[in-house]
Amino acid sequence: MQLKFYKKTPLLLLPVLLCMGFRSNHISRETGANPLADTIRQKGITLIVEDRSEGMDNLQKQALIHTFFTNYSRFIKTFNSKATRTILFKIDSGYTGVAYADAKLGMVCYGADYMKKHPKDVDVVTHEVMHIIQNYPSGPGWVTEGIADYVRHVYGVNNAATGWALRSPRPGESYTNGYGTAARLFAWIELRVKKGIVKKLDAAMRSGTYTNDFWVKETGKDIDLLWKDYINKPEL
Ligand SMILES: [Zn+2]
Repeated sequence: MQLKFYKKTPLLLLPVLLCMGFRSNHISRETGANPLADTIRQKGITLIVEDRSEGMDNLQKQALIHTFFTNYSRFIKTFNSKATRTILFKIDSGYTGVAYADAKLGMVCYGADYMKKHPKDVDVVTHEVMHIIQNYPSGPGWVTEGIADYVRHVYGVNNAATGWALRSPRPGESYTNGYGTAARLFAWIELRVKKGIVKKLDAAMRSGTYTNDFWVKETGKDIDLLWKDYINKPEL
């Protein structure tokens, strides 16, 4: 079964210039049989970039590649040393969403239209490649997406410039919304209740051992009680 994970469109995107130093001397580039694909290798990791759009701006493409190599090796080290070392990025004008990852295939597909309109939103890469690292056998989806946005919050390289940030919970909201809602809860638990819990949560999800009891075992409180404590005093 192929697991697919979808990313929501960030609410705030500000047009701010992106300044990124791209160290091209560390990259070897090849053009294989597929004229649409670039293969880039760094430190034992191979990224194949297949541009099936009308042609992404080269500086933007380099920024996506840079973000990938910055964060993917960090994620391997921090979360999953067994994660695949070969990843395919597809930039697809036929896909109208933001992006999705297929962990089983080691592939991330980016919507060409979204990327064209949001050239500074390079941390779409950060969120999506975390799904490759996750490679969970099953859900719950709110944990999966919550961790991916938590990781974007911690490791994002250009969040501030694009106006992306975790926000305080809104009345009636539930952690089961996943994404930023769950990510901010995780950040609060890390800070106020138990440091290092996201790493343990990620490991439990990957080994298929996650249940609701995880929270009681780790914190002495179930997830609903943690949420209640959090929304009563959500400061980070
Ligand atoms: Zn996602």
